[in-house]
Amino acid sequence: MSKPKPNKSGNDELEIEAVKSPHKAAVLAADLAIFDFDLSSRAVQVSDAGRKLLGLKSSCTINSLIKLVHEDDLEVLRSAFFDHVEKRTEAFNVLSRIRRPDGEVIWIEIRGKARHNGAGEATGLTGTFGDVTERVLSDARRRESEDRFYKLVENSIQGILVHDFQFRPLFLNQACARMLGYDAPEDVLALDRTIELIPPDVRGEIQAKAKVLESNAEPITSEAVPITRPDGSACFVDALATKVQWDGVPAVQVVLVNSTARKQADDEREHHRKMLESQAKTLKALTRKLDQALIKAEENAAIADAANRAKSDFLATMSHEIRTPMNGILGMAEVLLNTDLNEEQRRFVGVIKNSGDILLELINDILDLSKVESGLVELERKVFSLPQQVTEWSELWRPRFEAKGLEFSLDMAPDLPNLVRSDPTRLRQIIFNLLSNALKFTNTGSVKLKLWASETFPDSAIVNFAVQDTGIGIAPAQQDKLFEKFTQADPSTTRRYGGTGLGLAISRRLTRLFGGDLTVQSDLGAGARFEFSIVAEIADSGDQTPVPAEDRQTGADDARRLRILLAEDNKINCEVIGATLTSAGHEVFSVQNGAEAVNEARQQGFDILLMDVQMPVMDGVTATKLIRQQEAENGRRCPIVAITANAMSGDRDSFVAAGMDDYVAKPIHQELLFDALERAVGGKIARPDPASSGPEAANASDDDAESGKILEKILEDIA
Ligand code: ADP
Repeated sequence: MSKPKPNKSGNDELEIEAVKSPHKAAVLAADLAIFDFDLSSRAVQVSDAGRKLLGLKSSCTINSLIKLVHEDDLEVLRSAFFDHVEKRTEAFNVLSRIRRPDGEVIWIEIRGKARHNGAGEATGLTGTFGDVTERVLSDARRRESEDRFYKLVENSIQGILVHDFQFRPLFLNQACARMLGYDAPEDVLALDRTIELIPPDVRGEIQAKAKVLESNAEPITSEAVPITRPDGSACFVDALATKVQWDGVPAVQVVLVNSTARKQADDEREHHRKMLESQAKTLKALTRKLDQALIKAEENAAIADAANRAKSDFLATMSHEIRTPMNGILGMAEVLLNTDLNEEQRRFVGVIKNSGDILLELINDILDLSKVESGLVELERKVFSLPQQVTEWSELWRPRFEAKGLEFSLDMAPDLPNLVRSDPTRLRQIIFNLLSNALKFTNTGSVKLKLWASETFPDSAIVNFAVQDTGIGIAPAQQDKLFEKFTQADPSTTRRYGGTGLGLAISRRLTRLFGGDLTVQSDLGAGARFEFSIVAEIADSGDQTPVPAEDRQTGADDARRLRILLAEDNKINCEVIGATLTSAGHEVFSVQNGAEAVNEARQQGFDILLMDVQMPVMDGVTATKLIRQQEAENGRRCPIVAITANAMSGDRDSFVAAGMDDYVAKPIHQELLFDALERAVGGKIARPDPASSGPEAANASDDDAESGKILEKILEDIA
C-alpha cells in the first residue's frame, strides 16, 4: 500500500485505490469529500473537500479524526464499521455528529465500502461523506411535529377516524374506539367497513354524503348519527367529515363528538313538548267543554231564575189573593166586635176572628217557609243597637210571661257588640218564635233569654242567643224532627197547644241565613233550651238609622183624631178599614183610584193618606209621586201610608223611594194599622176601645175544639 504524498498545493494528493481509475479526474473535479482508511497502516487520507468540511487545515490521522466524532456517536460509528468490515454487511452507511475544531457541530453521512485482499481479508475502507446537518435537523423537526400531532390526536377527547371512500378504516384514535364501543383502535381497524357500525336504515344517507364529499371536497356535518355498539347498546355521534389524502390516496377524516346525552335531552324535550302539546289539546277540549257547561249552567241559571221569579210572582199573587178576602173576614169580625152584640153573637164572632187569625198565621207561615226555601229571602242590612233592640222586644214579652205567672229574665253579656248591621225583622221573628214556644209550653217556673258573644273580630262578631224554659221539655228522640215542616213533638200538641209545626222549621232556615244554626237541648219534663247564633257585622255610630220603638200606648187622652183620605178600590177592604178607623173616632174620606186621590189631596187638607198600591186608573205609587210633586209647589207635606198585599222583601224600599212614609200589609191587622198611622203622623192617635175588641176578647179556650177542627181541615187540604 502506497503512502499518501503531499501535493503541490499543500493538499493531500489522493492515492486511493478506488479512485486510481479512469474516473480519477472526474472525482477530483467533483470536489467530493472522500476518505480512505488503510487498515494495516491505520493511515487515513481525506480529500481537500473532505478536510474543508471537517474544518481541518492539514492532513490528519485516524486518531485526530476520531476525536472529532461526537462522543454519543462513537459507539454507533464503531459498531457500523466492524459490522461492515467483519460481518461484511452490504455497505457502510452511518450518520454521525462531528465537532469541528471551530466548535461547530455538524451531521455527516458516511458511506463507504471495505477493500479485501485475495485471501478475503479486509484491507481498507474507502468512501465519501457529506454534510447532512440540514436534512437531519429538519427530519428531527418533522418527527417532533409528527409526534406532537400524534399525541394531540391520541389525547383528543374527540373521536378521530380516517377511512377510505369504501369506509375501510385506516386510522382512529383511542377516543374514537371507545366511542364506537371498542377497547382499542386495532379492534376497529380489524373491521371491514366502518359503515356497518351504523344501523342499516341510516347507512344510505351517510353513503350519499360520502359520495358528495368525494366529488365536492367541502366538509360535511351529520348530527346525531346512531351507532350500534358491539355490546348492542346505542349511542349517537355528531360528525364532521373532511376529504383528506391518506398515504397518497383520497380518504375521509371524521371528527366525532358523542352527542348521546344531548340527543337524549333533545328526545326528552321533544317528548315533553309532545306531551305538553297533547295536554294543551286536552285542556283546550276541557275548556271547550267547560265553556259549554258554563253556557248550559247560565241557561239553567236563567231558567232557574225565571222559575224563581215565577215562584216569587206566584207567592206574591197568592198572598195578595188570600190576604184580601182574609182582610174582609178579620176586619169585619173586628168591626162587629166593636158593635152591640149579645153574649151568643159575641162568642160566634169571636170564633170567626180566632179561626181567621189561626188561618192567617198558617198562611203566613207557609208563605214564609216557601220564600225561605226558594231562596227568595234576603236579609236586610240595617244598623241598630242590638242590646237596645233585644231589651225592647223583651219588654213586649214580659207582661205575657208574667200574666201566666212565669218569671222572665233577660241576661246580656257585657261584651256584646252594640251597633250591628243586620236584619232586625228576621232576628225578631226567630226570637219571638222561641219566646212564644217557651210561653206556650211552660206552665210554671221561668223563661230566660240570654245573649253573649263567642267570638269578636274587628268587623264582626258571633252572637249567641238562648231561650231557656222550665216547661214540658222534649224527648231526645223527638228533638231532631222538630225542625222539619209540620212536625210537633207530640201528636196531641195541636189539640192542646195549637200551632202549625212550622215555626222552628222557619227559624232554623233563617238562622242559617244569618250564618249560624238553631239547636235544642232538652229532656221530657226537664224544660228546653233553644240556642242559635248569628254572624253580626259590627257597625259604628256614623251608620246608625233609628229603628222605631215597638211598644205603643193605646187610648191615651191626648190621642189625635185624624182626617184620613183612604184610596182603595176593593169595596170590602174600603168598608173594613173605613169602619175600623171611624170606630176609633177618625174622619174617613174614600176614593177608588189613584187619580181621584191626587185630586182630593189637592183640594182638601188631610192629616194622612192611606193609599192602596194596586188600583185601576192610576196605581198608588204613581199617585204618591204626583202628590209629592204637587206638594213641592205649595210647601206642605202630608204623610202617606201604603196599603199592600205585596208584603214581599224589597217592596218597602220601592214605596219609600216613591215618597211614601210607611206601609201596612193586607190583611190589615188593626193594631199594626194604628201603629203605622202613629209612626207616620209622629204622635199618638185615637184607637178603638181595647176592652171590646181583639183576639183576647173572644173566649178562645171555649172555642179550642172548633178552632182545632178548622185547623185540621186546613191541614188536610194542604196535604
Ligand atoms: P208550633 O209551635 O207552631 O207547633 P214549632 O215549629 O215552633 O211549631 O214547634 C214545633 C214543636 O216543637 C212544637 O209543637 C212542640 O212540640 C215542640 N216545642 C217547641 N218549642 C218547645 C218548648 N220550648 N218546649 C217544649 N216543646 C217545644
